[in-house]
Amino acid sequence: MTSKAPVEVEAILVGQSDYRESDRIVKLLCAEHGLISAVARSARASRRRFGGSLDPGNRLSAILKRGRGELWHLDEVTLLDGRTHSRSDLDRLTLLAYACEAVAALARTDFAEPQLFGLLQVAGLLIDSAPTPPGAMFRMALEAKALTFAGLTPGLVRCIECTAPLRSGGPWTFDPTRGGALHGRCDRIGGRPISLRWLDTIEGGRRTPLKELTAARAPSGPSWALAEIIEAHTGQPLRSRSVLASLNPYG
Ligand SMILES: [Zn+2]
Repeated sequence: MTSKAPVEVEAILVGQSDYRESDRIVKLLCAEHGLISAVARSARASRRRFGGSLDPGNRLSAILKRGRGELWHLDEVTLLDGRTHSRSDLDRLTLLAYACEAVAALARTDFAEPQLFGLLQVAGLLIDSAPTPPGAMFRMALEAKALTFAGLTPGLVRCIECTAPLRSGGPWTFDPTRGGALHGRCDRIGGRPISLRWLDTIEGGRRTPLKELTAARAPSGPSWALAEIIEAHTGQPLRSRSVLASLNPYG
């Protein structure tokens, strides 16, 4: 059912691009409708039009109307959380942008996504408020949780080829295009070598609340293996990944 009546939703701004001469298209993630693209009229002509609140990672209350096709119209926004610490800290800001991009890449359009919305809401709050900017373990746990909530639970416990427990024999490899880990003996393509400790730590992170991981250390091993599952799933590179990788080369 399509209704033109305005709806008010709580949303996180996950991306934006220029549109026409003075407009912007904002991408919003909300619990009720998943990923939404909405035209913000005159947002480029005047920052005051939306109170300067259209920055990635911001939590907003938005009044929206359905337009033609998949494009909505953004009528009004109220800023609920502007992630103020992150705006003056490059590590936090880059991680926040990456979290928005990675979670949004897995969210469906016009489909309720309460778990992905809740995950990004918690991640944004922690990235902004943790005593030190969260590192690679936090990011990998976020990726693993996002994949799980999108129905793409990464294979970290059972071999994605033979389905036997990985614990039953090493060495082990990881194949992002197939979404998880394999016994070396089951891997005919030659995935990246990983250790049992890497597997255990990432699986532990997937099951641990993010708030307990803001200062956690990442295991040695492929840092972007889970990001590569997201990229393989969407067929698109995560654009903010290289910026984040250059800030934290040892992550
Ligand atoms: Zn196997």
